[in-house]
Amino acid sequence: MDIADNVKEILGRAENAARRAGRDFSEITVLAASKMNDAARVRQAFDAGIRHFGENRVQEMREKLAQGAYDGAALHFIGRLQKNKVKDVTGVCRLIHSVDSESLAEAISKRAESAGIVQDVLIEINVGAEESKSGISPAAADELICRIAGFSGIRVSGLMAIPPASAGITETRNYFDLMYKLFVDIKDKKYDNVNMSFLSMGMTRDFEDAIMAGSNIVRIGTAIFGARNYART
Ligand SMILES: *Cc1c(COP(=O)(O)O)cnc(C)c1O
Repeated sequence: MDIADNVKEILGRAENAARRAGRDFSEITVLAASKMNDAARVRQAFDAGIRHFGENRVQEMREKLAQGAYDGAALHFIGRLQKNKVKDVTGVCRLIHSVDSESLAEAISKRAESAGIVQDVLIEINVGAEESKSGISPAAADELICRIAGFSGIRVSGLMAIPPASAGITETRNYFDLMYKLFVDIKDKKYDNVNMSFLSMGMTRDFEDAIMAGSNIVRIGTAIFGARNYART
């Protein structure tokens, strides 16, 4: 299967999941997680209809950006963001999915202010309480959002999560449900300067379940580009 076929299949499956959930497919963004795929492969996904790309590594993103990989598409940052790389991402990416501390939010806000823009960000939730993973605990989300809501260079626009890779499908669904509940709870509180628009969850192995649970951004790598060859880098 080539990338165009894969995109077609994934969009069809996502649309079916939306229909089963009684949701409007036009509200759901299928984002291609394009790490380790070069600019030519990104363009193949674009030509097949993908309009949102997510990258994990700033250096790789910069190289592909310079090659025009994302022309005409929205770029997202979905990886762990170091403070010294904030300048490369702020104002460049439509959405930063991985804010998990006040200090990172502050660094992004300052950078955005000096560029005269407002950067949309998501709060990353470590929904499975995994030690190795970034993100804050569900219980800490409210407090972090309250602390950073007043930063004038950012707008908190929703939540992102990656359930544990080891979780079975039932457990994963429970995590998705928990995330949706957290998302709605925070939305209902109507904090000033907080716009709970996006719930970013679901990847190759579970994106249909994520859509059923209320996700509106699914981040798909393998099912679009094929298995990543980590040995090559
Ligand atoms: C790589 C990646 C994905 C895509 O994972 P697949 O299982 O290949 O679909 C999604 N989200 C993030 C944050 C990623 O790093």
